[in-house]
Amino acid sequence: MSKIGHNKPPSDASDVGGGKLGRGKWLRVRKPLSQRFAEKVSVNPITGCHDWTGCISSGYGQISSEDSKPVLAHRVAYEMAYGPIPEGLHIDHLCRNRRCVNPEHLEAVTVLENTLRGALGIVTRAKASLQTHCKRGHPFSPENTGIDHRGHRFCRACQSDAIRRHQKQNHAHRMEMQRTRRAEQRAAR
Ligand SMILES: [Zn+2]
Ligand SMILES: [Zn+2]
Repeated sequence: MSKIGHNKPPSDASDVGGGKLGRGKWLRVRKPLSQRFAEKVSVNPITGCHDWTGCISSGYGQISSEDSKPVLAHRVAYEMAYGPIPEGLHIDHLCRNRRCVNPEHLEAVTVLENTLRGALGIVTRAKASLQTHCKRGHPFSPENTGIDHRGHRFCRACQSDAIRRHQKQNHAHRMEMQRTRRAEQRAAR
C-alpha cells in the first residue's frame, strides 16, 4: 500500500519542535568535506562532466570548507585529486562547464595565461563566427559544435583532444602524488 501522508516529521524530529527547523539545524556534527562534496556531484554520461548539484555562485559550484568558509567546488576537486594549488594559479575548465568538478576537466593556469585566453577570445570571435571549420579543420557541424557558458561556440573534437592530452599529462603526476602520499602514510605509522 502506498503512503500518501508521509511528509510528517519523524517522531524524534517532532520532539525538537516540529518540521519547521531549517535543514542542518539539528545536524550538530558536520560531515567531512570529502563526503559532503561527493554527495553534491552528478556525473553526466554524455559529457563526462561532474556537474555540481549544490550551491552555485556566479556559475561556479560552491561548498563550505572545514572551517566553514565558502570555497569554489572545482578548486576543492582539483586539490583533492592533485594536491594544493600553487599560489596565484587559476583553475581553468577545459570542458568550459563552470559547474563541472571533474578533475580531469580542470587545468591549473597562471592568471596571465587565463587573461590572454580571454583577450584572444574577444579578438578572434568576430572572425570565428564566419568560419565553417575550426582551426584544426574539424567541421562546425551541429554534432561537433558546442556552446560554452558565454554563448560562444567551440569544436567538440578539439575539446576531447585537449581533455585526452590533459589526462595523459596528469596521469604521471597523479601516480607520483600517490607514491608520495603512501610513503608519507608509511612514515607516519
Ligand atoms: Zn567537465
Ligand atoms: Zn577542432
